[in-house]
Order: sequence, then structure tokens, then C-alpha cells
Amino acid sequence: NNELGEELVVCRRGDEQFEIHCHGGDAASAAILHGLERDGCMIVPWTEWIAADEADPIAVEAQIALAAARTTRIAAILLDQQAGALRRAIDEASRLAEAGDRIAALTIVDRLLARAALGLRLTAPFRVVFCGRPNVGKSSLLNAALGYRRAVVFDQPGTTRDVVTAATVVDGWPIELSDTAGLRASDDELETAGIAAARNRLTEADLVVVVIDVTATWTDDDAAILAEHPEAIVVLNKSDATEVFDAARPAGLRTSAVTGLGIDELLKTIVARSVPQPPSPGEAVLFTDRQVQQLREFRASLLA
Ligand code: GDP
Repeated sequence: NNELGEELVVCRRGDEQFEIHCHGGDAASAAILHGLERDGCMIVPWTEWIAADEADPIAVEAQIALAAARTTRIAAILLDQQAGALRRAIDEASRLAEAGDRIAALTIVDRLLARAALGLRLTAPFRVVFCGRPNVGKSSLLNAALGYRRAVVFDQPGTTRDVVTAATVVDGWPIELSDTAGLRASDDELETAGIAAARNRLTEADLVVVVIDVTATWTDDDAAILAEHPEAIVVLNKSDATEVFDAARPAGLRTSAVTGLGIDELLKTIVARSVPQPPSPGEAVLFTDRQVQQLREFRASLLA
């Protein structure tokens, strides 16, 4: 088009199939697509392209999910599904149902559904939220868990005003850690907004870590936070320093954000709670809402 040119590699892959390779970045590929469209081509989103090329919707979904896989561990699970692990399990359940063996079919279906929660999280990290009173060491623990300084640590209570989030990987599982404003009654408008944001984030969490400071006396605020999150991992932080004994304080995982005591243990516990039963190689895993919905319908038909 007489414009300043871009050098491309055009590769013929079949009679009517070409690949165009260009420089990286969105602008170069967008310009090429725009030029092709102007000359009469139709742009098809890659997800639709895969769907047109592949008969099995599970394999299509696996390819799309693979593009969002953040670790090789996640990719390996999705590759198993692309290679047919889930398809085979579902086909086997259907075959058993048709042969009249509903119990065996139900066993397969129930095993798949029991693991669906993990599968649905394969393309998004597990959301772990640290909460607790101000100054108990939430920001310090987040930094210690990440191995770098992401959150500001300050010795004045009430200074974390927004939710601070960082992504990390533990044992091949993507995990998003969030540090939240300390939970306490406050008259400060900014702090109150931070506390509201913290509560919001807590409702979306897959896992909550309640942080308790062993150098401080146990308060009603601590008790209220714990009562709100009965499933939480309880962490007793500042275990390097002199402890204030309090019989009311519950047991918990002892950590020190300063010395690193218990941080590995905390990360291991987070993974064990997020992924209690990692799938074995080649195992069938449901990983989209559509698959879960369809299997639930199949289960209902088995019980009808
Ligand atoms: P947050 O308000 O709960 O996020 O608490 P910070 O992480 O900002 O820490 C509050 C204060 O406690 C800071 O002065 C930290 O240096 C200190 N601190 C945090 N964790 C520990 C710990 O494990 N041991 C000791 N001795 N001090 C800590």
C-alpha cells in the first residue's frame, strides 16, 4: 500500500492456509489485520477459529484455557484434558448409563464433580486474603511470603488503606495474596473506606489467613475477626518477640515475618488447603462452568 513497509515472513501451510509472522507487539499485528480486512478478509477471533477446527468442545475449551495457564503444572493438567482424559471419563459414564449400570456411571460423575472446584480455578489464581487487626504484621507477612517488598510496612496502626495484591506461584499453583486494611472500629474516613475494601475482598477469597500478634493482648476485635472466618488459617505472628500470654488466644501456625520462621510452613498450608487433592497425571478434570453444568444435568438424568 506504498506505506512505510514492514517486513513479514509469509509461510504457506496448505493450499488455502498461510501464516504471517511479524514483529511482536499489538500494533504490528493490528496493522496487518487491518490491511487484510480492507482487502476483503474476514477477521475470526482465535477462539472461534479453534472451535471451527476441532470437533470436541472439551478439546476446544482446553486449548482456550491453556492460553491462560500460568504454570507448567496447570498446563499439564489442561493438556491431559485436551488429549481426551475428560472426554474418555464422560464417554465411559455415558456407556455405563446406557448399559444400565447407573451406579457405576454415578460413581464416575460424582468423582468428577467433587473435583470441579479445583478445575474451575485452573485459569485463575487461588485468592488468599490476609486479615487481622491493624499492626499484627499482615503486610510484613505478605512481603515475607513473596520474598520481596510489595506492601508498605509501618509501625503505626491503620496505615494500609487499600487492598494490596501480588501474584506468586507455590509448588506450581498460582496464588494471589492480598493484604488488607486492619479490621477495627475507626472514625477516620479513609481508614473506614480501606476496611470496607478489605471486607469486600474477604467475601471473594478462596482462603482467609487470620493474623494474630502474640506480642499484643487478645482483644474482642481479634475474637470477632476469628468468629467471622471459622475456616481460616490462623497465624500467630511475631513469634520471634516476647509473647504476651493469653489463655483466650487460639492455637495457630507460628510465624515471624522478621526471621522467616514458619513462612514456608504457611505457604505449604495455603497450598494444602487450596489444593487438598492434586489430580494425578492423566486424570480427568472438569474445568469450565459449561462442563460442570452439563455433568450436573447428566447426573440428574441418572437419578430420574
Ligand atoms: P499490618 O498493619 O498488620 O500490615 O502490620 P505491618 O506488617 O505493617 O507491621 C506492623 C509492625 O510490626 C512493623 O513495625 C513491623 O516491622 C512489625 N512486625 C511485623 N511482623 C513482625 C514479626 O514477625 N516480628 C516482629 N518482631 N515484628 C514484626
